[in-house]
Amino acid sequence: MDQPIPPGPGHNTPPDAVAAQVAREAARRRTFAIIAHPDAGKTTLTEKLLLRGGAIQLAGAVRAKGDRRRTRSDWMKIEQDRGISVATSVMTFERDNVVFNLLDTPGHEDFSEDTYRTLTAVDAAVMVLDAAKGIEAQTRKLFEVCRMRDIPIVTFINKMDRDGRDVFELLEEIEKTLALDVAPVAWPVGLGREFIGTYDLLRPSLHLMADGSQPLALSGLDDPRLDAAVPKNLVEGLREGAELATALSTFDEKAFLQGTMTPVYFGSALRDFGVGHLLDGLARYAPPPGSRAADLRVVEPEEPALTGFVFKIQANMDPNHRDRVAFLRICSGRLLKGMRLKQVRTGKAVPVNAPLFFFARDRQVAEEAFPGDVVGIANHGVLRIGDTLTEGEDINFRGVPSFAPEILRRVIIDDAMAAKKLNKALEQLTEEGVVQLFRPLDGAGVVVGVVGALQLDVLGARLAAEYSVKARFESTGFDLMRWVVTEDRIAEEKFRRTNSHDIAEDHDRNLVAFFTSDWRRKRAEEEHPALRFVELREQH
Ligand code: GDP
Repeated sequence: MDQPIPPGPGHNTPPDAVAAQVAREAARRRTFAIIAHPDAGKTTLTEKLLLRGGAIQLAGAVRAKGDRRRTRSDWMKIEQDRGISVATSVMTFERDNVVFNLLDTPGHEDFSEDTYRTLTAVDAAVMVLDAAKGIEAQTRKLFEVCRMRDIPIVTFINKMDRDGRDVFELLEEIEKTLALDVAPVAWPVGLGREFIGTYDLLRPSLHLMADGSQPLALSGLDDPRLDAAVPKNLVEGLREGAELATALSTFDEKAFLQGTMTPVYFGSALRDFGVGHLLDGLARYAPPPGSRAADLRVVEPEEPALTGFVFKIQANMDPNHRDRVAFLRICSGRLLKGMRLKQVRTGKAVPVNAPLFFFARDRQVAEEAFPGDVVGIANHGVLRIGDTLTEGEDINFRGVPSFAPEILRRVIIDDAMAAKKLNKALEQLTEEGVVQLFRPLDGAGVVVGVVGALQLDVLGARLAAEYSVKARFESTGFDLMRWVVTEDRIAEEKFRRTNSHDIAEDHDRNLVAFFTSDWRRKRAEEEHPALRFVELREQH
């Protein structure tokens, strides 16, 4: 039953006025993430985007991140220093009346589940490719996560100032490996050392690196001004390439919004070229916050009542604030400072006295926030990943996923007296999403699961630093874990009986199975056809 939460500030505003304001604000939000393989230029592009957005004071903070190369020890140190750049952070900037919320995703190959979860909180993604490398392993992995929700993807082919691959070859690679239609919206003029700019295929104009940000409007590829502006040896190639590209595909906004076609931009983040064009594209084509499916109904962003979900928890972001911050993505309505929201999972009221906006390293208290925005809510462990917050309605948003961890380790402590402390620490760190916790049903010691090895190092360091627990991690002999899903209680019981040494419960008491190999998993599937062994589970 819906339980009313006592009204907070703003309840005197007429609902129509709130609805109009919410609709207006939602429509000008663009909430996105950058997906890229390490070294493709995500950090450099982020910095340039922020500069374009007038958030110049942020550039230093981002630069600091770009300068340190990501060795494991650096990351550990930063995680320990509570720098926010290791894990997801949120950067907000405004340009031409559009509010951009850029949700940062760690690009290291040892990345954690935070990366995946962040992608559940965005409405679009920019896929950055290195012109010389094309689609790389991590690009593909992140792309697949976007595809699960059909997130529209804008492609930025970076490092055009360096010798790269043939452009048609790159486009074909995107189409083939990602099964994603491509539509170049710009075409490069010259390549590598000869690269001088781009020609805008949708709004005929020439963008030259040397000219700064002022494009030259043209009537089309035949415009004689093109010959005057572009060196002779390049103009022919441009005309040929651009004509062929136009003949091969045209940008279809509907297909883009459905996640089946990507517009392609070209540029050089390092030389700050193509970045404004990309931002224009995001403002023009990327969708504002849309409707979101909850368990009982679909929520529209312009609804006046606030709804949102927690996609990330971070502890001790700031050594001066030893609290946990829950990152809430707002789906509908207006968040006002001082509101009391309902945590649907428990029915508890959560006061939001100081919602935080994130500007790179600074945290600022927000007076109000709207759909598409991400705010931080300080709390002492009440909020969990996947939690839905509302003004009283009992609905739960779907889709903050848990992924089957790829590394499973038994936690060993030498000091038996510390067992209780370890338990509490693991519970808390699990709720924060640092690890997943499994309790084997045969009573053996707890098992932790992580997606990347770095997460395990972070866990060890945090157990020691924050809980004074010295733990080691030992092999479990298991290589694989799956959630066991079925409606058939008898089949489940049979499975439990015959596999009592390889099963456990997760933190939410869901049944999981461990396997020593993929072959074993397949065997189990054959032997227990009434059960499903799933790799991905939505929270709640
Ligand atoms: P990230 O790992 O994706 O965040 O990549 P970075 O932004 O840290 O960039 C990786 C390296 O590529 C750095 O040395 C950058 O200076 C360089 N880089 C980034 N963008 C460009 C570009 O457009 N052109 C060239 N030549 N180098 C670039």
